[in-house]
Amino acid sequence: MPSTVSASAIEALPMPIWPAEIYPLEPVQGWFQRAAKRNYALSADAFVDSLGLSGRDWDYDEMLKVVHQLPIDGLDALEASTPKRCDNIYEICGHKLSLRFITKSSRRVCPMCLDERRYVRTWFDVVPVASCPHHDVALIDGLPSDPLDWRHPEIGWTKSGTKIGAEHAKMQIASELDHYIVRSFIADDVGLPDHLKDLSLNTVLTASVCVGKLFRGDEKHTPTHENVRSLCQIGFDSLVGGGDTITDFLSGAAWLQRDSDKGRYKVRCNDVPNMLQAIEDDGLRSLITDAFARARVRNGLATPSGRLSKYDGEDDRRNLKSAARSLDVTSHTLGVLIRKLGIDSYRCQYTRAFRLSREQIHLVQNYINNSLCPDDVSRLLGCTTYDVHSLVKRRLLNMDFQMRGVFRYNQSDINHFSTLLLSYDADRCVNGSQPLREFLMSRGVPLAEACSRILRDKSLLVVEHDPLLPLFAGLKVAEAEVVA
Ligand SMILES: [Zn+2]
Repeated sequence: MPSTVSASAIEALPMPIWPAEIYPLEPVQGWFQRAAKRNYALSADAFVDSLGLSGRDWDYDEMLKVVHQLPIDGLDALEASTPKRCDNIYEICGHKLSLRFITKSSRRVCPMCLDERRYVRTWFDVVPVASCPHHDVALIDGLPSDPLDWRHPEIGWTKSGTKIGAEHAKMQIASELDHYIVRSFIADDVGLPDHLKDLSLNTVLTASVCVGKLFRGDEKHTPTHENVRSLCQIGFDSLVGGGDTITDFLSGAAWLQRDSDKGRYKVRCNDVPNMLQAIEDDGLRSLITDAFARARVRNGLATPSGRLSKYDGEDDRRNLKSAARSLDVTSHTLGVLIRKLGIDSYRCQYTRAFRLSREQIHLVQNYINNSLCPDDVSRLLGCTTYDVHSLVKRRLLNMDFQMRGVFRYNQSDINHFSTLLLSYDADRCVNGSQPLREFLMSRGVPLAEACSRILRDKSLLVVEHDPLLPLFAGLKVAEAEVVA
């Protein structure tokens, strides 16, 4: 007992004997329990009652008021370690935590910690903590069918009268989350990566719960302590990893598989933005939103259109539009080519949008590479590109598709055209034949018109051709005799 307190002052103090020492991370409720024992109280509740407080409620703020009347060193530390209620949060060790992360009702202990020194550590009551990070031992709320008796004047006794100690420890490796929470009660820098560095403990815990919920996909989460704890533990590791890790993690969620039951899929997805509103930090919220979207795109459950278009390709498929862009053709042309090649493209189950695989895009690319431009065709046929264009306009020659406003041709159409033009009767004897070029010059007839006369009204006949020359350069023609 400190010597500075006079005898009369002591009589005015609320309790005759008190623990003068405050232990590390000890909250006021734990200190009161030790005080109950020091004062030989029958129960902790009765002791609290005897001080004019409610032994039923254990109002920590009221308890702090009592302690403040005692001459104890280290009261600041005790106050800091005590969860102080303030509107809808608890303030504890300089952190503001929402009510669901602190429990007053389902309290637990680490048997090993108690074995070392019998007192309450404030993080015993932090809901998301699963294991003691000092001992890698599970926090327990008692023994099987024998819960802890918190009315007992000493901490760690069960209702049936067993004193919890090292022999009751159940090994359970502490998670990164357990270490993080306890560390954040002691140190300022807990070594989180940049995307979480400046965020509050509450935000990180809330975001962990959200990632856990996204993974589970069950939209009806009863906020029991066990649920909050397991969601938080599930989500934390990938949250620390960042966007890519969260995406990988969520891609593996059972409800986000292509072949999983989609009964509540839409309802769950619609619920997500609302659920994520709980995360106060915009940056972190959109990191998780994006990871969820990417995971769905990757698993083929969402078409990467609009806001999601930046994830096109995540599932090794591309939208028509972005595939067209990569091929340097319009979506319309790509549609034409897909039909031409008989590509059976995948259509998104939900949006019905075309989705092209890498191989299919490659197939189209090859087709484009092998197509002929007007210069190629003019060289092959031995005419000008203007002539080629005129042949297409007269529908004598097929063009294949358009690219950047220019017609492209395929070899088989050119072959077909040549074959038709050369299917003349070689034995037919016709007088007055001349090379096609000469004929065109002398009559002032355009090439396309001459071809039309050969192919359509047969008033011009091909009588000879030189296979070593380009088609039109090696042709000889004669005018058909008009039958009287
Ligand atoms: Zn421990």
